[in-house]
Amino acid sequence: MRLVVQKYGGTSVGTPERIRSVARRLIETQRNSCQVVVVISAMAGVTDNLLTLAHEISRQPTQRELDILLSTGEHAAAALIAMAVNALGGRGISLTGAQAGILTDRSHTKARIANVSPKQIHELLEDGYIVVVAGFQGQTPEGETTTLGRGGSDLTAIALAGALNADACQIFTDVDGVFTCDPRIVKEAEKVDEMAYDELLEMAGSGAKVMQSRAVEFAKKFGVEFEVRSSFKTGAGTVTREETPSMEDVVVRGISLDRHQAKLSIAGVPDQPGIAARIFSDIGAAHIIVDMIVQNASIEGTTDISFTIHEDELENARKILMPAVGRLGAKQLNTTSGVAKLSVVGIGMRSHSGVAARLFECLGRNSINIQLVSTSEIKIAVIVDEKEAQRAAQLVHAEFGLGRLLPAASATHPLARSTTDS
Ligand code: ADP
Ligand code: ASP
Ligand code: MG
Repeated sequence: MRLVVQKYGGTSVGTPERIRSVARRLIETQRNSCQVVVVISAMAGVTDNLLTLAHEISRQPTQRELDILLSTGEHAAAALIAMAVNALGGRGISLTGAQAGILTDRSHTKARIANVSPKQIHELLEDGYIVVVAGFQGQTPEGETTTLGRGGSDLTAIALAGALNADACQIFTDVDGVFTCDPRIVKEAEKVDEMAYDELLEMAGSGAKVMQSRAVEFAKKFGVEFEVRSSFKTGAGTVTREETPSMEDVVVRGISLDRHQAKLSIAGVPDQPGIAARIFSDIGAAHIIVDMIVQNASIEGTTDISFTIHEDELENARKILMPAVGRLGAKQLNTTSGVAKLSVVGIGMRSHSGVAARLFECLGRNSINIQLVSTSEIKIAVIVDEKEAQRAAQLVHAEFGLGRLLPAASATHPLARSTTDS
């Protein structure tokens, strides 16, 4: 018998009718000779509401209590799904993350999965149950409840699929699959049929919230192939797997946008060993996550260092850096909020040149200023004014022929030459 792990996100279980429709789908899947484990997220909006409540009670809620509070959203949704299965004549049972055997480290609100012991799940499957697991949570070795970071039900599903050696892992959501860009930003975006772990990892890490990036990282590490598909329609979604040589034929797989970023530039920093370490260790000690870092070429013994962080951290970072600027002998600190990061992603970039030039030319032609640039082997990211971000995404999407996914060989732009055809 095939073992299938399915996951349904918040919108997919957002109303009693949708809960019943998920339950019908689960019973149908089981009837097609499958053992079914299903991971459920909190109903749409519940986690946000719980967070708002917590912050109304306390400016800095205790992390342990936050985890206990937030995990209840998934408990409720999982119990409702099991009830709906039972009401439709099926055999459903819900489990908390702890009961499902998900063991984590002790980092409350962003715990990492250390181990999965799915003994109880196996026993319940043998007894013919549809096993409904509350997503987004686990427990520490001491039995404390933890949560896995926003979007963490994706991680629960991938980890269970890996531990159970499932035949299929299906992530059901409110769109048809992974698109060439968030369809809410670019309406011409189209579903991608297949992509490599690294591509989805880069997209998820730069704003495409369709999958939690830690879940994709986990899937890549343990070789868990998964499909993102619609919970409202039938039909294939997007399969993410280890890359194949033909995947490199597409130069740009997709683009993503990360809004609410802030840029900080320290001007006139003495160009000496150890200075960058001092700046970033102060920032790191305050648990501020730094994204892009750019250091200019040194002129007359000084240089400029710029980097980006989430806008919410700007005040905090400014407080740390203002005194440090004087101490380091730098000239001044400039900060800008309201910027966004636009990323162009594709493993085809490894073997095709001209992508950066084509991106810069497209933005330049449309008078969109690039404030910072960073690259990886399969990604080019630029910082632009947030007000221009959506227009930039639409223009770049069209520039690279996305929505029609032109293979490299048929790309017509003069800068889109392959390194191998010169
Ligand atoms: P769920 O509640 O099912 O986990 P999420 O809201 O976390 O769903 O993720 C689905 C949403 O991700 C979509 O509604 C879409 O707006 C957004 N999204 C962002 N980037 C992409 C992309 N490249 N492809 C598809 N959806 C995307
Ligand atoms: N309910 C959690 C969140 O909103 C986890 C999830 O939906 O995956 O982040
Ligand atoms: Mg999600």
